[in-house]
Amino acid sequence: MSSHPIRRRALFAAAAGAALTPWVGVPAFAANKKVYLDPGHGGTDSGAVGNGLQEKALTLNIALQVRDILLATYSGVDIRMSRTTDATVSLQQRSDDANAWGADIFVSIHINSGGGTGFESYRYLTTDAATQSLHSTVHANALAGMRTVASVTDRGLKTANFHVVRETNMPAILTENLFIDTVADANLLKNAAFLTADARGHAKGIATYLGLPTKTTSYSTIVDNTTSGRFTASANWATSTYSTQRYGADYRYADPVLASDAAWFKVNIPEAGNYKVEVWHPGVAGYNTATPHVIVTSSGNQTVTIDQSTGGGAWRSLGTFAMAAGDYNAVGVSRWTSAAGYVIADAVRVTRV
Ligand SMILES: [Zn+2]
Repeated sequence: MSSHPIRRRALFAAAAGAALTPWVGVPAFAANKKVYLDPGHGGTDSGAVGNGLQEKALTLNIALQVRDILLATYSGVDIRMSRTTDATVSLQQRSDDANAWGADIFVSIHINSGGGTGFESYRYLTTDAATQSLHSTVHANALAGMRTVASVTDRGLKTANFHVVRETNMPAILTENLFIDTVADANLLKNAAFLTADARGHAKGIATYLGLPTKTTSYSTIVDNTTSGRFTASANWATSTYSTQRYGADYRYADPVLASDAAWFKVNIPEAGNYKVEVWHPGVAGYNTATPHVIVTSSGNQTVTIDQSTGGGAWRSLGTFAMAAGDYNAVGVSRWTSAAGYVIADAVRVTRV
């Protein structure tokens, strides 16, 4: 810290409490949360240097990753940065910019120096509950993120009269991510996986503090009985083009039997979550009136029975199910029914909801 370039204005400290604008919170609905990310130093100010590293490059690397992870993983968030390149930006410009934008939180990212090891973080000399909550949440998550890659000393939650946490009008913190002039720390700062883990931890902490919802991946896929590599059925399942209500070129049918001989549709589920599962079959009088469909959910198989003698030629919902990520046989049509008439396997559609 001794060589840390952030200026401390001790004379201002006594009056600083009065200078802080009360944080009035964010609207309870609609508006995105505004996250201001401040990569320390830049341009003519390299920040601390050591072991072939420059603080300004590391802080930009981490902050850009925090931005990208937040935008990719969560919804309802806007991000502004004090710099996105190797630019010279004064401390006053940083706090002024965040205040003018009306940021909900301010997170400044730095690398420590002066001899030592580990991670510490700062807020202003305040007991403001929102700031303390932001501070403890980001600190814990950033540390946990780094510790997925390496052992990191926790130097704790601290307070300081730093410009960017004092002059900003919203909950503001500053993280000091290891020591650039300590060889073991510098080696971690040279490790791309470590920087990403650190960024991921910061992002998770920010999202947790703000209550950002996880972004739902848009996903919908159709697997037909003719889709290559995605449909499996025994030779007992014959092929038909009888009904024009079929999906695609043809469909498969089999006699009901009190044995396990399901036809399976394989689906590449992109992430764990809730999925709407629909089936398509031709509806023909005389087809099975109680065809069991098996959905492989994350808590075990569930069976939904539908009447295939009617309601064909359209997508029919089997319901919404929690499904695990992975490429696996996700929906089956079972022959195991005591109802009469052919059971039909034609196509399934699985959609993330
Ligand atoms: Zn710094």
